[in-house]
Amino acid sequence: VGGHPKPQQEKMNPPGVKSMIAVGSGKGGVGKSTVASNLAVALARAGKKVGLLDADIHGPSQPRMFGVSKRPASPDGKTIIPLQAHGVTLMSIGFMLPEDKAVVWRGPMLMGALQQMLMQVEWGEQDVLIIDLPPGTGDVQLSLGQKSELTGGIVVSTPQDVALLDARKALDAFDTLKVPVLGLIENMSMYVCPECGHEAHIFGHGGASAEAEKLGLPLLAQLPIDLETRVAGDSGAPVALGDGVMSRAYAQLADRLVK
Ligand code: ADP
Repeated sequence: VGGHPKPQQEKMNPPGVKSMIAVGSGKGGVGKSTVASNLAVALARAGKKVGLLDADIHGPSQPRMFGVSKRPASPDGKTIIPLQAHGVTLMSIGFMLPEDKAVVWRGPMLMGALQQMLMQVEWGEQDVLIIDLPPGTGDVQLSLGQKSELTGGIVVSTPQDVALLDARKALDAFDTLKVPVLGLIENMSMYVCPECGHEAHIFGHGGASAEAEKLGLPLLAQLPIDLETRVAGDSGAPVALGDGVMSRAYAQLADRLVK
């Protein structure tokens, strides 16, 4: 994303992309990027052609989660060739900036960057493009919702009340933008002691399932606090690449979302 991105008016649906699923959350740190990366990997393992756009412009996590950080090629100085990792086609603002460099941009520049990452990147043919949104309900959500035809949105939340309160806003934003809500994912829903099997509900219990029921939305998954998930995310090889419980949970989620 070179130069000074400028906002443009045209539709933001990359030509070869069949469906676009946005992953949002009310607040940061609830595992939105973890879910987005693992969902993308699980879809790829299920034989889908998958792209992942890291639209979390202020805090891009996908370069670390996929263990890639080189600058994408741009042979003609205009089109951008996305990177490939673990079977997923990837683009992140993090590829274009040093990791410790903050993005201090106003709305229009954000919109320009988003536009470029969708329309100047050669996504090619993809069954699904997963979009890792920034937390909350800001310019990126608004712009995407207005200018792209999204197949649907997912909201990730912890069971905690505060996260849920914010999750409701994220759901409401999808509604306002007329993006179909595919469901809620409760992350860090419990901790199972590896020694004794005891289940501890560290961030509360049942919050997201109650909320999903109240809103008539599917609860797409309840994912435990899991050491392997965290370590895998930090090491650049998402847990869904393995063959354990979490990998199976993400395979199920992928299956529920994309037939
Ligand atoms: P967000 O995108 O919502 O800001 P991240 O996906 O970056 O959140 O997750 C925040 C931190 O929590 C990361 O270190 C990640 O590895 C960890 N994490 C996310 N989900 C889980 C989980 N289910 N179990 C353990 N750690 C998790």
